[in-house]
Amino acid sequence: MILLPVIIICIIALSAIIFFYAMINKHLLAQLRAKKGELKAAKEAALEALPGLNDGSVATWVINRRNMVMTFLGDFTQKSEFKKADWDIPNFRRLCHSCCLDVFDKWIGVYSHLYNPICRRMRFHLSCDGGKTFHWWELIYKLNETTSKDSKFYGIFVNVDKIKNMENEIDDMRQKMYDVELKETFLAAINHDLRTPLNAIAGFANLLSEQYDLFVEEERKQFADIVKSNSETMLKLLDDVYTLSGEDIIKVNYKMRSKSVRELIDVIYQTNKIICPSHIDFILSHPVDDHDANIYVDPKRVEQVINNFLSNSFKFTSTGSITLGWRDITDTKEIELYVSDTGIGITEENQKRIFDQFFKVNEQAHGTGLGLDSCKKIVEKQDGTIGVESTYGRGSTFYCRFKRYDEEEEN
Ligand code: ADP
Repeated sequence: MILLPVIIICIIALSAIIFFYAMINKHLLAQLRAKKGELKAAKEAALEALPGLNDGSVATWVINRRNMVMTFLGDFTQKSEFKKADWDIPNFRRLCHSCCLDVFDKWIGVYSHLYNPICRRMRFHLSCDGGKTFHWWELIYKLNETTSKDSKFYGIFVNVDKIKNMENEIDDMRQKMYDVELKETFLAAINHDLRTPLNAIAGFANLLSEQYDLFVEEERKQFADIVKSNSETMLKLLDDVYTLSGEDIIKVNYKMRSKSVRELIDVIYQTNKIICPSHIDFILSHPVDDHDANIYVDPKRVEQVINNFLSNSFKFTSTGSITLGWRDITDTKEIELYVSDTGIGITEENQKRIFDQFFKVNEQAHGTGLGLDSCKKIVEKQDGTIGVESTYGRGSTFYCRFKRYDEEEEN
């Protein structure tokens, strides 16, 4: 009799458990279905977002570290220009354009370190038709602590032609913007620097011609000196503009010939002696044994360079001396022409930029910042080198070097 109620309670309990279990199961099934739906939608969205997956512009690959073979997965090879799936390293290298062989070899070089957890992306310019057409591809993979120990690892291979084109366009635009900026800076500098000496010339010339009798002799000389020095500034400016606008001229109009360095330096010294401020000691320095040497240059161009060094030294030296000289560098068989001053000097930081276009240590200083840039171009055009050594606060030495020209040897 006791058994019956116990059996009834058990049946009720079992039914309840089955009922709850069924309920939970139904809920789980519904959740599972929803998840499946989400996954399907995500997959479709991914396919839509990456149309390349279907058109042969994106692939997944695996590299087997044991035989160093890279294999494209899926149906990539049927849709892309890569007609086979397995590539060993020498074969894959053959697809590379010469411009990216360096990158490729570096990548192969780091194979020995591939066990380090790291993310790598490399771009290769590849051709699958024997060099007729090339496309840009990017190889991307990430190794973490676990995968870095596996014998295989996976990555992605993406066609980046469009990105590369966009980058090239951006580079072109950046270059154009830079050119426009340079031109604007240049025009502003020219405008400012031409106006200042022109105003001075016009003003003092006016005073001299219209009110000559009002001034004593000493004052008239002072005015004449100001007119003279401002005319020289303008001439230097025009020289700079000529050299800048004439980069083509730089390339063609060189009258190269053998020239005695002694003669060249003497002529430059005589011309600049008149210009050198009277409170500066202007020294001419030939080698002590008084020998001579020849260089193969356009003498007028070299004169232009040394004149530029000198006019800078005159500008930036208020006491002491300026030395114009030359010397042999026996090791390299070169001749060095130099201008040394005891002026304000240039910091190490600024020495690095001193030959850059438009560079001036002090933005307010007169000049376009083109002089040394032009000098560099002129010297290098004649296969020479240019340089500076300076101690800030003590003085500077600007020099240019050319190969010694021994006519007998050359003939
Ligand atoms: P600019 O034509 O305006 O004189 P440069 O290219 O010849 O320009 O010179 C650039 C800058 O280099 C100058 O503005 C000046 O700051 C610095 N510089 C050139 N020569 C000397 C020098 N001998 N001593 C100190 N600074 C110098």
